[in-house]
Amino acid sequence: MSRILIIEDEESIAELEKDYLELSQFEVDIENSGDVGLSRALKEDFDLIILDLMLPGVDGFEVCRQIREIKNTPIIMVSAKKEDIDKIRGLGMGADDYMTKPFSPSELVARVKAHLARYKRLVGADEHRNQWIEIRGLKIDKTARRVFVNDEEKNFTTKEFDLLTFLAEHPNHVYTKEELFREIWEMESVGDIATVTVHIKKIREKIETDTSNPQYIETIWGVGYRFKV
Ligand code: CA
Repeated sequence: MSRILIIEDEESIAELEKDYLELSQFEVDIENSGDVGLSRALKEDFDLIILDLMLPGVDGFEVCRQIREIKNTPIIMVSAKKEDIDKIRGLGMGADDYMTKPFSPSELVARVKAHLARYKRLVGADEHRNQWIEIRGLKIDKTARRVFVNDEEKNFTTKEFDLLTFLAEHPNHVYTKEELFREIWEMESVGDIATVTVHIKKIREKIETDTSNPQYIETIWGVGYRFKV
């Protein structure tokens, strides 16, 4: 169930909004002052906030600004004055929507539902975004298995990609050639640990500007390799 916070000093309006939202199965809390509303909005996890502009204590402008410094919770700002709505739109306060009072409660419910759906899509999209490793000019897109050096794409074989990614994901850790071979080639019988040396050399040719003085994969003599950050 989505939780909604109404910050509104006119109790009759707040109660009306609450009744309609509860009919649509939302869980609704009301705060009548800007400062208490703000502290609850920051401390608790509401899914959406309906924020009145003119409030005693801290006004809606300031409440909106302070929430936005920390959270992306959707905010619908309401005001009795159309001029105020025009003004806050122009200021780019970071509110997601604006409504002029009086508005029909069903219009409010419709907008609340639309913003909740939109917010869930955005958060969901975030979770599915490609996973990147970025170290100085080197960018590894783990999802698409692509490598970029100073924004120029380099072609990697499967094993080169696996080896580079493994090292980059464990920075400053020294691995022996045996460990790397086991990690990347697993149970494959082909090849031996010299394969690791060959692959490191090929990777360096692609990502280093000076292979005799590598900036990413460092050779630890007599031990193995380490990815430097
Ligand atoms: Ca008010």
